[in-house]
Amino acid sequence: MRSSRVGIRNDTEGPPPGGGSDRSLPGPIPHTISGNACIDFVNSRFSEHTGGGRIYDRLELPEWREWFVEQCGLRPLGPITAATLQELVRCRRLLRQLLESRQTPSPSEMGVLNRWLGGPSLYWEITGGGAARSPVLRWRDHDWRALIAVVALAYARLLSEGRLGRVRRCANPNCSFLFLDESPNRSKRWCDAAICGDLIAVRRHRSRALGSGRARP
Ligand SMILES: [Zn+2]
Repeated sequence: MRSSRVGIRNDTEGPPPGGGSDRSLPGPIPHTISGNACIDFVNSRFSEHTGGGRIYDRLELPEWREWFVEQCGLRPLGPITAATLQELVRCRRLLRQLLESRQTPSPSEMGVLNRWLGGPSLYWEITGGGAARSPVLRWRDHDWRALIAVVALAYARLLSEGRLGRVRRCANPNCSFLFLDESPNRSKRWCDAAICGDLIAVRRHRSRALGSGRARP
C-alpha cells in the first residue's frame, strides 16, 4: 500500500496545494478514533492541534478512505470519482455543522439527510451454519452511496437517541476534533488525553514556570 502524508488544506476546502512529501505531516490513519462513523468522518478534516493554523484533509487519501470504509463495515469500494468526492465533502461539511450546533436539522437539511440515507438499498441474507445461522443485512448497492448512508445513519442515531449533547469539541483551542463524551458526568475534555491533554498540561506548566521566574527578585 502506498504511504501518503496528509495534504494541507485551506479553509475554503479548495483543491489541495499538492505536495504530500513533507514527513512532518500527519499520516493517513488517525491515532484518535471515536468509533462513531459520523464523528470519525467529520474528523477527517482537522486543524493542526499544536497551533499554526494548518488544516489537513485525510479524505483525499486512498489509504484513509480504504481504512474508513473498513471501519464502517463495508467491503472495499474501489476508485472514487471527483463528483463522489465532492459529495463526501458536502456531507462532511453539513454533518460538522449539525454536530457542532447540536440543532435539529432544518426541513431542507432533513431532506438532504434522507436523500443520503435512501441512496442505497439493502437486503437480508441468512449466513453461517447450524445454530450460528443468522439473518444479516447486505448492501444491494455496494458503492460510495453505502458509505454516505452509514455516516448519515450514525448521525441520525445520535439525533434520535438524544445523544447530540454528548458530542463535544476538544478543549484544546487549536484542535478541531469532535468526540463523543460517554463519561457518566460528561467530564471528558480532550479528543485524546495523551495528545491534546498532555500538550495543554505541558504548556500550562511552562507558562507557570515562566511566570514564577519573572516574579523572582
Ligand atoms: Zn484534541
